[in-house]
Amino acid sequence: ALELKQKTSGSIVLDTVREYTKQHPQCVLLVQVGDFYELYEGHASSYASLLDLKLTRKKVANGQVVDFAGFPSRSLDRYVDMLVNRLGCRVALCEQLGNIASQDGTVLGMERGITRIITPGTVIEDRYLTAHAYNYLLAVLPTTTDLKTAGLTTPIGLAWVDLSVGELKFQQSTLQAFKDDITRICPREVILPQWMEQEQLLTNSGTDTLSKFDDGLLVDQDLYDPITRILTSDPSLFVTYQPEVNFDAALCRSTLESMMADIHENLALDVFSDQSLAAGMALLHYIDKTHAGRRPRLLQPSPFIAEDTLRIDSAAMTSLELLKGLKDGRRQSSLLGMLDRTTTSAGSRLLSQWLSCPLGSHQAIQNRLDIVDYFYKDPYTMDGMRYLLKQTTDAQRALQRLAMRRGQYSDLYEINHTLNIMKSIRQTFQHAYTSLPAPVAALLAALDPHEPLIDNIQHAFVDQNSMDDDIVMDDGAEDSLDDRQNGYGYVNPGYSAQLLQLHDNLKHLQQSKAELQDELRSICGRSVALISQAPYRHVVEVNATPSKKLESHYQHQGTLTLVHQTKGKRRYHLSSWTDISIQLDDTMAHIMDIEAKVFEQIVAQLLAESHTIVRSCHALARLDILTTFAWLAKQNDWIRPGINTNQGTTIEGGRHPVVEAHLAKKGRPFTRNDCELKEDHRLWLLTGPNMGGKSTFLRQNAIITVMAHMGSFVPARQADIGLTDWVFSRVGAADNLAQDQSTFMVEMTETATILKHATPKSLVIMDEVGRGTSTADGFALAYAILDDLNRRIQCRTLFATHYHELADAVGTFENLKCFKTDVYEDSLGFSFLHRVEPGVCRLSHGLKVAQVAGLPSSVIDVAQSVWSSLNSGSSFLAKELQSTKDNMDR
Ligand code: ADP
Repeated sequence: ALELKQKTSGSIVLDTVREYTKQHPQCVLLVQVGDFYELYEGHASSYASLLDLKLTRKKVANGQVVDFAGFPSRSLDRYVDMLVNRLGCRVALCEQLGNIASQDGTVLGMERGITRIITPGTVIEDRYLTAHAYNYLLAVLPTTTDLKTAGLTTPIGLAWVDLSVGELKFQQSTLQAFKDDITRICPREVILPQWMEQEQLLTNSGTDTLSKFDDGLLVDQDLYDPITRILTSDPSLFVTYQPEVNFDAALCRSTLESMMADIHENLALDVFSDQSLAAGMALLHYIDKTHAGRRPRLLQPSPFIAEDTLRIDSAAMTSLELLKGLKDGRRQSSLLGMLDRTTTSAGSRLLSQWLSCPLGSHQAIQNRLDIVDYFYKDPYTMDGMRYLLKQTTDAQRALQRLAMRRGQYSDLYEINHTLNIMKSIRQTFQHAYTSLPAPVAALLAALDPHEPLIDNIQHAFVDQNSMDDDIVMDDGAEDSLDDRQNGYGYVNPGYSAQLLQLHDNLKHLQQSKAELQDELRSICGRSVALISQAPYRHVVEVNATPSKKLESHYQHQGTLTLVHQTKGKRRYHLSSWTDISIQLDDTMAHIMDIEAKVFEQIVAQLLAESHTIVRSCHALARLDILTTFAWLAKQNDWIRPGINTNQGTTIEGGRHPVVEAHLAKKGRPFTRNDCELKEDHRLWLLTGPNMGGKSTFLRQNAIITVMAHMGSFVPARQADIGLTDWVFSRVGAADNLAQDQSTFMVEMTETATILKHATPKSLVIMDEVGRGTSTADGFALAYAILDDLNRRIQCRTLFATHYHELADAVGTFENLKCFKTDVYEDSLGFSFLHRVEPGVCRLSHGLKVAQVAGLPSSVIDVAQSVWSSLNSGSSFLAKELQSTKDNMDR
């Protein structure tokens, strides 16, 4: 991109801007012009007010006048953050690449090019990332283009990467499992093949549908293919369409092999399906495009194997409020929010992964529990670990920035610092190694501090603590800070003989400069200054009046020439100063050059070991989570659960950790409850009044099961958890949707999923199934569902209902037991006990609640008489229920 030099250095050629805008139609183009970034034409008029920038008109090269807005370079991060994270835009940075010079060296103009496209899924800088969350970019490739009629088992290739840490994963999903997978992966940006965009345009063309969608109501489901439906239901998700040719499995194989040739000896790509590898290539293309060809460092890709995990279906993920609260959608009000007392960002990220993907293997769970147990029993060491961990930095992200050549010295220091802490952690245990439980020893052994590397970094660079501006420095460090403002002074002068020599020269030159300055001051006073920098290079600058003295002093030597003057100041070339100044410049440039080479060299060393460094970082994150589990257990009085393979679960004195914490804030106690699901009472039918605590009880047992599978202690007096393959839930969504018709639809879809997938090893919780339809329908369906769970599936089930008649109908089921929550009542009124005990709750306390709520007594009286007639067995409803039941029993 050639531009002719205009009068001001800041002018641009509009054609360049238009050309790049055309090349990147989906991006907001930010053009670097000197010390500013600028938006032009449509981008300026559309975004100026959104970014709080002044929209003006500017004359550009070719004499045209266009809309324009701009901001100083130092504010780039702030505006990019606003555009990408708040306004959901892609940003293309068009930056200055250097001067274009003619053969004789005259500068003709400035070369500019696209150096980066910033999108939510491809950022690697801390300032655009959330420390505690993964930032996944996901590519999706369905096997068929006819999704609306595709079967549920239609395969879908998935590949996702967190570019900031380099973790790449592949999975073969299906249309059926897609929603669960999206909930689990929780991507920030999704890449789809181009044809899906056309598909979506077609389905969107019905304006009726669109307006309904905009209102937040349910769309006519048939108009959307299932994938689009799932992806568009989350408005914060960024969707990008890429050409089909980018989805190429063979190319993915060869690209990954070449990218990882030096670090992963045996890259096993055979375990991944072609479909998911093809999706993987779309990721690689996209990264290449957005980062203008810079290659990321990727870790050995790992397959997602469902069998190794406790699966949690998306409805359970939502209703158990594992990752975010149901009401406010916030992380803080979820189980994750409660558990996340980790001390490192990497630990915090990994915790969310552990929670959405708990373990499915007995041995793996026991290993984690053993480690938690060890720290639980030794709180002194636990606190010490947490103290050390708190001081580590996000080394994995720093490593990736270095790998993508967007790193700085600070990234190098961060990694060094973290590796040093690993060393300290290992030293803490030095004397206790032999007595450590095997899993603890293995974890510590994985914390390899890479000592030769950190020794080298420490040897190469000056005290890194002084790099931090906040730290009070002694005199020596201040010197080096001055140097750094000049762009050097990071590398220890003693690192190479050549550098030492250069620093020595520099010192002498600076000394000569000081001497010259003293001499000049003695001639013409304090206003004299020696200047090297542009625009007046190598000049002696002095106020106009004392300049006379200077001129007369050098008159006979002929070494002083006036080069520039203004009213107040005169600037001269003085040959002795020009000599020193040029040498100073050269020496500094030479030092900078060598320092940059040392930096490159050490970064290369570091990257060569990046995969083992990352392994250590992983171990550090695991240590963080497991010490946090121990800490939480101490704080909240949790116990180590037993894990059995008999598919029986016994929880004594269980609590819901989040509800309990919430009540504790209001000074209210939580009532502990037991739950035993095994053999002849695998199925619990729970009846009780609204607000009696049914739903809390259901959820707490599912949550305790999930926590145990993560390797955490659990909120109970005692617990023995049967190894579980899948947790399902059909709870609560009914309260969150406005339309009855669709509520019932959602209810039944979720139930269908459960009945299709649940196995004898699953845990199912169901609350108020059948509420969205007529009483008789609801009753009939609830009965049939219970029957199927009991006879065919035979899984552990907690089923809550407000039909106490259902308890009578299923009372004869072999493996079912009835439980109830009840109220305490005396002459003063009534209160909820939240205690779960055997039996059926037959009284409806709805009337009492209504009375307490202030319904007129005349209304309550009428309701009371209707209620009595219903319960006398003579009503239409009671008869209908009876006949439904008789039919079923037959
Ligand atoms: P239901 O499902 O029977 O309508 P919930 O489980 O929603 O009742 O409980 C209603 C409220 O009762 C909860 O928000 C909580 O404040 C309180 N609660 C529930 N279980 C307990 C318990 N075991 N101990 C103390 N309070 C509880």
